[in-house]
Amino acid sequence: MHFVTLQGESQPVAIGKIVCVARNYAEHARELGNPVPDEAVLFIKPASSLLADGGGIVIPAYAQECHHEIELAVLIGRTGKGISPASALEHVAGYGVALDMTLRDVQSRLKSKGLPWEIAKGFDTSCPLSAFVPAGRVPDPQQLHLRLTVNGDVRQDGATAHMLRPVAQLISEASHYFTLEAGDILLTGTPSGVGPVRSGDRLEAVIEGVGRLSVSVV
Ligand code: MG
Repeated sequence: MHFVTLQGESQPVAIGKIVCVARNYAEHARELGNPVPDEAVLFIKPASSLLADGGGIVIPAYAQECHHEIELAVLIGRTGKGISPASALEHVAGYGVALDMTLRDVQSRLKSKGLPWEIAKGFDTSCPLSAFVPAGRVPDPQQLHLRLTVNGDVRQDGATAHMLRPVAQLISEASHYFTLEAGDILLTGTPSGVGPVRSGDRLEAVIEGVGRLSVSVV
């Protein structure tokens, strides 16, 4: 069992599945040479991929290239299936900062063969995650600024306003396929600027009004 902290709650929240969306920012889809999808491209990271703030990312021996992807994380507080976009934000308990660490060489090899790329996305420590702030403290999840630095250099600098599918639509679409349960997390995609990290790198991810996350690469 894995837990996260929601500010204002005395008890930690037990985490279920982590539903992620690929290519949710047009510029990022372009930088990887991918078409902009006409339906949400979803995948799931296991709860065992979580890494707490201050932790160390361990790049598995089967990979050569591990990329950072800063993402807005959404904590589901109320279970639902087939949720309408209009009521979707009522299911959100809080917002946080996540990194969707990705073994790009492994992903590319599997993609080229038409195979699933879970092992490029779901490895241990592939999901560094901050504490969550209550949803009531974030007036509009589409008006947030995301910034990632590696060793102090800005690598990603984006805005949730540029999501192709906003948070409410993502919750609605994801809940069409999977029951979203209290304690599940949604990762909402990354803006452009992804790139490799190496042993010894220090990553700082900040979403204004939401939080910050500091991790290093072992
Ligand atoms: Mg991602």
